[in-house]
Amino acid sequence: MSRKVRADVDLSAIRHNYRLACAQAPNARAVAIVKANAYGHGAIEVARALESEVPAFGVACIEEALELRAAGIAKPIMLLEGCFDAGELPEVDAQGFWPAVHSEHQLVALEQAQMASVFPVFLKVDTGMHRLGFAPSDVPAAVSRLKALDCVSEVILMTHFARSDEPEQSATKHQIECFEALAGSEGLAACLSNSAAIMAWPGAHRNWLRPGMMLYGATPFMAPQPVADQLLPAMTLSTEIIAIRDVAPGEAVGYGGTFVCERPTRIGTIAMGYGDGYPRHAKNGTPVVVKGRRVPVAGRVSMDMMTIDLTDLPEVEVGDRVELFGKQLPVSEVALWCDTIPYTMVTCLTPRVPRFYSE
Ligand SMILES: *Cc1c(COP(=O)(O)O)cnc(C)c1O
Repeated sequence: MSRKVRADVDLSAIRHNYRLACAQAPNARAVAIVKANAYGHGAIEVARALESEVPAFGVACIEEALELRAAGIAKPIMLLEGCFDAGELPEVDAQGFWPAVHSEHQLVALEQAQMASVFPVFLKVDTGMHRLGFAPSDVPAAVSRLKALDCVSEVILMTHFARSDEPEQSATKHQIECFEALAGSEGLAACLSNSAAIMAWPGAHRNWLRPGMMLYGATPFMAPQPVADQLLPAMTLSTEIIAIRDVAPGEAVGYGGTFVCERPTRIGTIAMGYGDGYPRHAKNGTPVVVKGRRVPVAGRVSMDMMTIDLTDLPEVEVGDRVELFGKQLPVSEVALWCDTIPYTMVTCLTPRVPRFYSE
């Protein structure tokens, strides 16, 4: 009786992918990144599935960290961008959060705070992405100021790559060299690698890893890659066909009439749209899977529905399931058709899509 949109999340695939990340750098520790509701997969469920294996989780803001605590997640939680204002520091103190410190104002706030607990601090260095972090020349002074604080158990140097998903580009090499040349970094642990660097840049592994997208089984690379090829997709987004009609040649389908039938065409309407987070930018021809076969999107994605060309699958009926991406169709491939990346495909799914979990 209900709309049949669903996202099935395979938690064992996420555990497999986490172990694959760890296996790339057996001497490093991997903070599982579960920001943005674990890239749309459900932060609480993902954190519960990984909690026994991880040293810590990573999130974008304290609200996300508090949501995990409220759900009973007890492991340390790293705040990738640190505190947005000093008012968050009492929660950092009380809850066992690990802050990043990327700017002078965060450093001053920590110096002025009355903290009772002791925690590691991730000092963020701008080695070339130019988004967050201290300039390399300012790092030695920031390190000594952090080391002088009673609440700081350890200073871990952190940086983030702008182009680690492009193995042929020298930008990552330059960022690694910049990091290695940091004055005052002797004896400090380092945390550099996102998913792409874990898979493609072994020179960036060091002590701590920050895998995000790879946990969810999507490749950040445009080309096949030996490690990425071993990832298991964690989410399968699917729905049902709710109507089928025959449309004559020359007739247009959907808003704007962007798909014009060139032959007698069997159009299936499915319950999925941009109101569910499926991208409106999906071009005509974007694949979906019905009964194990790929068929193309035909016509613009609307808010609650979209249309697909079933002409070549005459046996398909109303009520048959349609996979938008997942076990049979890599989300990265669909993302290309939508002029986007797998990251947005999964994080943009709306609460209207119920998530179902398997262990
Ligand atoms: C999101 C994020 C990550 C994870 O990146 P992936 O490409 O998803 O692995 C790592 N580090 C920082 C600072 C991030 O913001």
